[in-house]
Amino acid sequence: MIIPPVRYLRPGTLAEAVELLATVDGAAVLAGGQTLLNALKLDLVQPTALVDVHRLDELRGIDVTADGTLVIGAATTYAAIAASPLARETHPSVAEMAAGLVDRQVRNRGTIGGNCCLNDPTNNFPPLLTALGAGFHTTGASGPEGWRSVPASMFFTGGLSTALRPGEVLTSVRIPPLPSGSRVVHRHLQVGADSWAMARAVVRLDVTDGTVTGARIVLGAVPGSPLRLTAVEEALTGRPLDASLVETAAAAFDQEDVVTVGDVHSSAEYRLEMAKVQLRRALRDAVEGSTT
Ligand SMILES: Cc1cc2nc3c(=O)[nH]c(=O)nc-3n(C[C@H](O)[C@H](O)[C@H](O)COP(=O)(O)OP(=O)(O)OC[C@H]3O[C@@H](n4cnc5c(N)ncnc54)[C@H](O)[C@@H]3O)c2cc1C
Repeated sequence: MIIPPVRYLRPGTLAEAVELLATVDGAAVLAGGQTLLNALKLDLVQPTALVDVHRLDELRGIDVTADGTLVIGAATTYAAIAASPLARETHPSVAEMAAGLVDRQVRNRGTIGGNCCLNDPTNNFPPLLTALGAGFHTTGASGPEGWRSVPASMFFTGGLSTALRPGEVLTSVRIPPLPSGSRVVHRHLQVGADSWAMARAVVRLDVTDGTVTGARIVLGAVPGSPLRLTAVEEALTGRPLDASLVETAAAAFDQEDVVTVGDVHSSAEYRLEMAKVQLRRALRDAVEGSTT
């Protein structure tokens, strides 16, 4: 399919990008283009202009602040995250997810910002970043300060929707340090070896002296994803870290309101069962201390 005529604009700075988005009617941010260009070809979106932020230095790079927060520029590619010693040291789950994402071509072009701003229910990063309690820094149309920071719990507002305002640019994703003793495990079932997830679960357990002191349990690949399972989280908190957690979580899962949908890949019922299986596996591996 051929992309319909659209203006291509490449600002030299973030300020220029914000200005273009504010002044050019119907302009949209272009990052890695791995989803947006396909959406254009399929006529799912009709921007009049694309403002390319992929090469803006201000949006690229990885750093760690004095308090241990991992700061990833929104236009940083999955490949750069996977190769980053800082990401591997502070949040190995983030680096591993980036390294395992789809194929080399998508990893070399796709960005963490694009992944989050799209918030496709099947995307990898939104559930993980929700479990990690990430913050999202934005600029342009961000209020009187000129920027704002939105927690993951408020940034992801539903499938394919976020708290971003028209003209706003995501500048960075900020992931606070985990308490020592935390375990983060991600498990998913894919349609094919390098394709979209049918079911996804992320388990984060904060553990002190053999007791679970906090839990974040998040599902992906469901319509409202990332979806936190608060009944499961409550059931796990205060329990000893042992294999019984898997059954505790399975029992609490039934109190959750998890809606799944069927499609060409699976029925809604099968997807729900697979979500439970991914949760069990992630929890079992977290208990056993296997995080990869
Ligand atoms: C074959 C294939 C398989 C894939 N499989 C998976 C998969 O299994 N898991 C997965 O997670 N992803 C998958 N993807 C999607 C891929 O990860 C995309 O890279 C990602 O969804 C979008 O990132 P991007 O940088 O390419 O953004 P783009 O496609 O350029 O943009 C996506 C959206 O985000 C907006 N946007 C981007 N950056 C910003 C910003 N800084 N501020 C404001 N808005 C912004 C754009 O306007 C657009 O609406 C796959 C893609 C392909 C082509």
